[in-house]
Amino acid sequence: MIEFKQTTKRFGSHLVLHPLELAIGSGEVAVVVGPSGSGKSTMLRCINVLETISDGDLRVDNISVRGSSRDIRRIRLEAGMVFQQFNLFPHLTALENVMFGPIRARGRSRAEACEIAAALLEKVGLAERMSHYPSQLSGGQQQRVAIARALAVEPKLMLFDEPTSALDPELRQEVLKVMQTLAVEGMTMVVVTHEMSFARRVGSRLLFLDKGHLVHDGNPVELLSAPPSDRFRDFLQHVH
Ligand code: ADP
Ligand code: MG
Repeated sequence: MIEFKQTTKRFGSHLVLHPLELAIGSGEVAVVVGPSGSGKSTMLRCINVLETISDGDLRVDNISVRGSSRDIRRIRLEAGMVFQQFNLFPHLTALENVMFGPIRARGRSRAEACEIAAALLEKVGLAERMSHYPSQLSGGQQQRVAIARALAVEPKLMLFDEPTSALDPELRQEVLKVMQTLAVEGMTMVVVTHEMSFARRVGSRLLFLDKGHLVHDGNPVELLSAPPSDRFRDFLQHVH
């Protein structure tokens, strides 16, 4: 589903992603961890072409991010993204926020979009909050609306960039639970997070990035139980 082929990303003379060789298959849940500034967000942003890659290639569902503008539009439709800040439209209700994608990106009618959005809000446990505005929702509820909004475009994969980092600890679980459900249903996911228990429980794979290098790539339970390097051990001590 995602193939990095000697991919690099440079900002000016700063090499932020060193040549990255990595394939993530359909249905995998790849959890990406690493210190601040190690290139985790950049890696995600390259996948849905919010950033352009510098060298090599990157293919999403076999479409190259170096392709035509039509290819890039297809990749963006296939890769749903959830950010640390929920970025909901403040003047739209939860339902209207989720309806936006189906109408704009998939050309659905209002009635169809309404049906899709209502079903997804129910799925994320917000059936009773559909006509609330973002300001009337808790952070955890807003993030669940953001997940529903991304799903409404019918993506083939979901990218999460620290989806619980802006939330109070007591609100994180409700978001992680929705993500776990998606994973169990077989969604391909790349999740940047500091939630090691989620990585252990839900991840099929753990990727440790440090200074733009992919240092470890393996089974989450094995890597977390027996950290294979001092860098990774130090990192784990800082997140715990
Ligand atoms: P992480 O998400 O792991 O904290 P990022 O991917 O955000 O790391 O950033 C990796 C490096 O790239 C950092 O050194 C950051 O300062 C730099 N960087 C990120 N975005 C930009 C940008 N738009 N312009 C210049 N440098 C950037
Ligand atoms: Mg980041």
